[in-house]
Amino acid sequence: MKIAIDIDGVLLDIIVEYCIIFNKRYGTNHQKKDVTKWDFFKDWNVDEDTGFKIFYEIYADSMRIPFIDENAPEIMKKLNETYDVDIVSARIPKYRSSIKRALDFHNIKENIQYSELILLHHRPYDIKLKQHYDLYVDDNPNLVEPIKKLKSRTLLLFNQPWNQDIICENNVYRVHNWKEIHQKIKEL
Ligand SMILES: [Mg+2]
Repeated sequence: MKIAIDIDGVLLDIIVEYCIIFNKRYGTNHQKKDVTKWDFFKDWNVDEDTGFKIFYEIYADSMRIPFIDENAPEIMKKLNETYDVDIVSARIPKYRSSIKRALDFHNIKENIQYSELILLHHRPYDIKLKQHYDLYVDDNPNLVEPIKKLKSRTLLLFNQPWNQDIICENNVYRVHNWKEIHQKIKEL
């Protein structure tokens, strides 16, 4: 089984760092829990280019982003011993070295926790499905409808404020932490 693990929203809590930078720059007081939509910056009165500029700044230096679940390295290591685990992220390839450094720092290491680091553009939103994985661990609500049409594949939707209105059914399951991810994969 080939498994694709996302970075942002699954391993790294990028939105926490995003809110800190955004609030400092624009004098706002946004918090992670307020991010209830994928395209949240439209509601924050910035256009997509301006909104993405902050993401790119964080991609260039990811060391301050909080790690989501301290159980992830051990569980990923076990999964990668049994299955073929890659990290598949919509961070663009330009930022590979910075991403690699941050993952290494959190004990997410190539050939131990994962085999390959695959970086893609963030558009179209379902670009990851063009890569052939059997199971995806991802927080992106835009993957849900397309993957429901691909019955042989599975999505473990990592619970986040921006995917709360998604109904998880058929080949889509909601997971809240890495222990649940491990359990669900063993059950499948
Ligand atoms: Mg993500």
